[in-house]
Amino acid sequence: MSAEVRDDNPYSRLMALQRMGVVANYQDIRNKAVMVVGLGGVGSVAAEMLARSGVGKLLLFDYDRVELANMNRLFFRPEQSGLSKSAAAKETLAGINPDVQIEEYEYDVTTMENWDHFNDRIARGGVDNTARVDLVLCCVDNYAARMAVNQACTEQNQAWMESGVSENAVSGHVQLMLPGRTACFACAPPLAVATGIDESSLKREGVCAASLSTTMGIVAGMLAQNALKLLLGFTEPSYCLGYDAMTDFFPKSLMRPNPDCVLPACVAMQQHYGGQWEPPCANGSGQ
Ligand code: ATP
Ligand code: ZN
Repeated sequence: MSAEVRDDNPYSRLMALQRMGVVANYQDIRNKAVMVVGLGGVGSVAAEMLARSGVGKLLLFDYDRVELANMNRLFFRPEQSGLSKSAAAKETLAGINPDVQIEEYEYDVTTMENWDHFNDRIARGGVDNTARVDLVLCCVDNYAARMAVNQACTEQNQAWMESGVSENAVSGHVQLMLPGRTACFACAPPLAVATGIDESSLKREGVCAASLSTTMGIVAGMLAQNALKLLLGFTEPSYCLGYDAMTDFFPKSLMRPNPDCVLPACVAMQQHYGGQWEPPCANGSGQ
């Protein structure tokens, strides 16, 4: 691009999406609030992508602190060691995009003492601080936290996306959850959840899970891309989208809710929608 037509305002590149007919309403991104639960290798990177995309507000949650052991992932820097992940993320993201409103909370989303506050932030954490948030991204690494996010979002009929990277670091997935319309996390639980096994007992002593910034970065990109699609309504969002690095495979599907789901709010939401919901176009059917 020649020097004469160069525009240093980052928003003009984003607005070009509108001029080029990709997104009809890109500026609406400034009115969107996204909650990010878990600021590890996926959540922190997805939050950065949304901040750079001009999202109006981010609400960041994590109970952990930055450690040197996290440096094989993107986003956090060694000098942030010891800071809470939520405070460190706020500092970095505010530096990248000072226009994004940021709330940060250092707590465990599964505990009773934080439950009301966590639910309140879903219900009233929108850009105007009165409306609900537009989307919740779940980027945690354990079932208990996923179940907590699942319960809060299903009870509040809040759209959310689940994400994960496998223990061997070479595959991952993102999944859009629309309460009552698509399967919730409890509709088809992993075996460990379905059988009530204590998750901590599954961890092998002295064996740490593998992690690769590449796979986590790809999954974060899939998650943030899906968030933009849903928030701005351009093309159909992905429902379940997988990534397998070993075979370069991106499987795609749509899981319907389970009428016998163990979560009462999920069954109530299924009744609310009366089984009538269909994805906006055939693209969601898996092909
Ligand atoms: P590793 O476990 O591999 O050392 P990690 O803990 O950073 O790394 P990631 O999968 O990269 O794991 O990120 C998951 C993030 O979710 C972590 O930052 C973790 O602190 C956060 N998290 C998990 N459970 C909860 C919870 N109940 N409440 C708040 N944050 C949570
Ligand atoms: Zn369910």
